[in-house]
Amino acid sequence: MAEAKKIELSKSGHLRKPDWIRVKAPVSKGFNETRNLMRGLKLNTVCEEAACPNIGECWTKKHATVMILGDTCTRACRFCNIKTGKGNPVDPDEPAHVAEMVLTTDMKHIVITSVDRDDLDDGGADQFVKVINAVRDASPETTIEILTPDFRNKPGALETVIAAKPDVFNHNLETVPRLYTHIRPGARYFHSLNLLSRVKEVDPEIFTKSGIMVGLGEEEVEVLQVMDDMRSADIDFMTIGQYLQPTKKHVDVHEFIKPDQFLKYKKRAKAKGFLHVSSSPLTRSSHHASEDFETLKAARLEQLRKEGNRAHEDAPVDIDEMKKHNPNYEF
Ligand code: SF4
Repeated sequence: MAEAKKIELSKSGHLRKPDWIRVKAPVSKGFNETRNLMRGLKLNTVCEEAACPNIGECWTKKHATVMILGDTCTRACRFCNIKTGKGNPVDPDEPAHVAEMVLTTDMKHIVITSVDRDDLDDGGADQFVKVINAVRDASPETTIEILTPDFRNKPGALETVIAAKPDVFNHNLETVPRLYTHIRPGARYFHSLNLLSRVKEVDPEIFTKSGIMVGLGEEEVEVLQVMDDMRSADIDFMTIGQYLQPTKKHVDVHEFIKPDQFLKYKKRAKAKGFLHVSSSPLTRSSHHASEDFETLKAARLEQLRKEGNRAHEDAPVDIDEMKKHNPNYEF
């Protein structure tokens, strides 16, 4: 008989957080400086709005993920802490403020995300482009990663953003397809997958990245299927992190996935051919994004080197050329 799982519940009847999930309270000087800078520039961050558990660590290092196009999302995903409702007016000063933030913090790699803007004709694509261009003008050395909405029913929006040539294009699948109607009702799994596939098709130089949360009730076999789907879309980098319930109104944590299972996912994903995989309980899309970008670049170079060697080995044999260099050998 299978051993029954021991489930620990808190007083409120929710799953108790295991030790490996606990994080330190954000109290450092660097954290306060980052917060003051964001407030001063009137910038929103997904770090705060999504109640990210890594905020203490990231903000201490002046690494914040800026969230453009307001603080209100036009979708209502059941896992997400961001306010939902009618979108805010688009701020024309936002691109300049993001650029100033990059200069002030001497940021080497920035992650820019946004709320969903189903209310805008272009889904917010134009503002993404303006922010990318402003950062590039102010700090050409800074590499740019974007984490976009799905631009569903916004013809041409995706291509507009791709043309701005971000270094990394991230769009999260969030969960396995079976759970979409429950967890991500406004989105479609295959639309998101196609979006990432299209980025690679239009501009193969851009790194693509996508992530899922686990602990929402998915089966291991479903996670492995998502990995295969991502590889068919030629996605370079996969992230896997534990879902944490931001408030009691949000969907419950179904299970706290153990660290060794995250390791297993990482190994399986690497074996499937991703250039890079980040899989741990506190992995989030933008966690260690700068270091991960360096890893991605190195992995691509290594891949190109191997492909170059293989192409060399597979090159058709030129008999005349060989005869020229080996006159005494009988061919
Ligand atoms: S992991 Fe990303 S969202 Fe979370 S605090 Fe760090 S930068 Fe912000």
